[in-house]
Amino acid sequence: MPTISFEYFPPKTADGKTALLERTTPALQALNPSFFSVTYGAGGSTRDSTLGIVTALREQGIEVAPHLSFGGDGEDTIKELLQRYQELGVKRLVALRGDMPSGMGGASQLVYASQLVAFIREQTGDHFHVEVAAYPEIHPQAENYNSDLRFLKEKLDAGADSAITQYFYNVESYFYFLDQCAAMGINKPIVAGIMPITNYANLARFSRNCGAEIPRWICQRIEGYGNDQESIRQFGIEVVTQLCQTLLENGAPGLHFYTMNQAEPTRQIRSNLGL
Ligand code: FAD
Repeated sequence: MPTISFEYFPPKTADGKTALLERTTPALQALNPSFFSVTYGAGGSTRDSTLGIVTALREQGIEVAPHLSFGGDGEDTIKELLQRYQELGVKRLVALRGDMPSGMGGASQLVYASQLVAFIREQTGDHFHVEVAAYPEIHPQAENYNSDLRFLKEKLDAGADSAITQYFYNVESYFYFLDQCAAMGINKPIVAGIMPITNYANLARFSRNCGAEIPRWICQRIEGYGNDQESIRQFGIEVVTQLCQTLLENGAPGLHFYTMNQAEPTRQIRSNLGL
């Protein structure tokens, strides 16, 4: 049975937090996900707000996977967070190198995810199920395709249990990637990251930065709708539902939805899938 999970980012405002906890979460929790994950701003920029959302979700008895990265932080800070998460009954983490927000220092300070995974194992043994990130269309800073695969294997060999991919709309990139991982001896689950299409302008900008390709035919279709947001919404739901269907029919071990803190697009896609 494929797993379903949902990702949040910590809202910047009190109203956003209330909406997330009181409206979005009950709507998504009704879909029976395996867990919710909560992103973490590298450099500790969201340390308190991530912890705040994780705590609030745990108080509702929800399974949560906080994202974590060293950023510029020292081992003591990360140790403290790990301890706090253990106290809260958290059993899953997403371990990342992260990207430093602009103005918080150069990439030279970043600690690779494989080192964080090793640190988590050293500090907390087998307590956490550790997820790492994978990139079917290859990480934008990777030296090449093979090196990126090798470093994914390094993270998994350091003790991570499974991976979640960056979102993609080219389904072939994912299945080719799975084949290449298998050829390299990677045999842990690689769950597909799914980005519903909501705000196209933001998605296009973000995709350029993170190296995810929006196929030309999708761009053309959406641009052709102009300001007709309802048509864009419907088309987005249709395209992403088809993507998910193909993934599930061909054996993807799970779907991890980048919800952008909105229940509706994810709920509709999930309902179309009839899981
Ligand atoms: P790594 O696995 O450490 O890899 C980073 C780069 O370095 C890659 O190009 C890799 O090929 C290369 N590399 C790895 N190891 C080595 C080595 N030993 N020597 C040389 N090169 C190496 N970002 C956030 O800031 N907060 C989040 O909460 C967050 N959540 C995410 C969740 C998911 C599921 C995904 C897919 C991404 C997420 N990101 C998040 C984005 C992510 O942090 C960035 O893509 C970041 O640039 C890389 O993180 P990583 O953990 O994949 O890095």
